[in-house]
Amino acid sequence: MSETILAPGDPIQARCTKCKENTASTVVSMADDVPEKVQCSVCSRKHKYRPPSVPKKPAAKRVSSHIETERKQWNSLLANVDSSKAIDYSMTSSYKLKALINHPVFGLGLVQRAAGPQKVEILFETGKKIMRCK
Ligand SMILES: [Zn+2]
Repeated sequence: MSETILAPGDPIQARCTKCKENTASTVVSMADDVPEKVQCSVCSRKHKYRPPSVPKKPAAKRVSSHIETERKQWNSLLANVDSSKAIDYSMTSSYKLKALINHPVFGLGLVQRAAGPQKVEILFETGKKIMRCK
């Protein structure tokens, strides 16, 4: 598909904020090769050109790749530790950096950093979590 250079007077699909939808519009003025102002044929309003809106794609992909990164990190960290030395997680215990803990729900985790007063960030297979500690 070759790109057609538009000119004032040409028909164009544009998003109109008054009609709140994509409408058939007419190019009023151009800035370089892109429409600058258009006139909506529905409400006759002249406004700044906005490309027609497209349905939003779900952002789930980015979330899963983030979890994937943490899972890989967890796998490589856990490869170097003795899981039999894991301490059972308890809110009333205090934890050292890199300590290996065993959580009843999340399983094995490694203490990453202090996340605030009485809070530590722990990397589990399912991702990082902030946990209470002493
Ligand atoms: Zn309109």
